[in-house]
Amino acid sequence: MISVEQAENIVLSNVLKLEMEEISLDSAYQRVLAENIYADRDFPPFNRVAMDGICIWFEDFGKGNRHFEIQDIQAAGSPQKFLQKGMAMEVMTGAMLPENADTVIRYEDLEIKNRFAKVLIETVVKGQNIHHQGTDVLQKEQLISKNTTIRAAEIGVLATVGKSTLKVYSLPKVAIISTGNELVEVGQLPEPYQIRKSNVFVLQALLQKFKVVSDVFHLKDNEVEMADALKELLNNYDVLLLSGAVSKGKFDFLPKVLEDLKVEKLFYQVAQRPGKPFWFGKRQNKAVFAFPGNPVSVFACAVRYLMPWFSASMHQKIEIEYAELTKEISFKPNLTYFLQVKTENNQGKLQATPMAGNGSGDLHNLVEVNAFLELPAHKTVFEKGKILRLWRF
Ligand code: AMP
Ligand code: MG
Repeated sequence: MISVEQAENIVLSNVLKLEMEEISLDSAYQRVLAENIYADRDFPPFNRVAMDGICIWFEDFGKGNRHFEIQDIQAAGSPQKFLQKGMAMEVMTGAMLPENADTVIRYEDLEIKNRFAKVLIETVVKGQNIHHQGTDVLQKEQLISKNTTIRAAEIGVLATVGKSTLKVYSLPKVAIISTGNELVEVGQLPEPYQIRKSNVFVLQALLQKFKVVSDVFHLKDNEVEMADALKELLNNYDVLLLSGAVSKGKFDFLPKVLEDLKVEKLFYQVAQRPGKPFWFGKRQNKAVFAFPGNPVSVFACAVRYLMPWFSASMHQKIEIEYAELTKEISFKPNLTYFLQVKTENNQGKLQATPMAGNGSGDLHNLVEVNAFLELPAHKTVFEKGKILRLWRF
């Protein structure tokens, strides 16, 4: 049996090699960029008027002129006009500054009557209220680097530089497979000896963070059927996420079936609770996660290993978080314990309060909490105030 740290290292050193694809901007949210993004022109691309008002030639103001005849209007979205010296032109925010003008005075500082503008203030600075060309960014400057996850802010920049399509990493094809004769569909009324399946939907929901669309399958506890179905699934998918049938029960056929199908076992069993019988393997550039069936085990393994593995496969940074334990907890077995906690931000300090569930089967407790706090295997008592690794979901 290996430690949580060893399991993490093995998982993260076996990430997927993803292809690239070109997608449209309107589907880019939450995808990961596979190209650098550069400015296609200066920003702003011209001397941009930054206030509604008039523009003048500053030298006229300097000579003492406070009354300007209004020559014309320069609106946003019109080609640049030419300002006669000694005159003013009305200008609108977003307009190109007229040629010859170098200063903008806002309407609030003017009185306009009969096509004449009177300047009401004495302090006017040359160049004011103009957003000069290239002052934000110069053409060809890099704006977003490859491997950035696209949020709303990136969407705005991509649109601005004209990227109606862009290169991102392709999403892997994922199959989520439940096992067990006791499981029935969500819409079904279970017999007393049956339960509704939930694990597949939990995994599907978690993967939506990466915009991964997965297909769902179910296998009966039958070795031959399992082998046939998995053979097919291994050919058609990049990632297999299995739940159940990996423990020591008479019908837990998966470890053997996977090895028969030449999936290389990278580890089986991790010194952790919940989720000890976790099995992980690969075949070429394909990964197989076989989680024990208990809903909380699946959840813990997915949050602790699968989500970081997806992040790493997608070239995203894995965020490492810590929180402070708010009350003493003791845990005797020599296993890493994923303690269910509710976090709260207390004046900038992240605190984690344990909320006891009824062990690895108690799915319901997970709705009361929002994270696992990782209590390392080598210790028994974890004092109040101890800072530990946190896995939020
Ligand atoms: P197993 O790992 O197959 O021994 O399953 C352990 C426990 O988890 C059993 O009580 C199963 O009924 C339950 N279980 C297995 N798969 C699922 C699933 N997809 N949804 C909900 N419970 C499950
Ligand atoms: Mg089972």
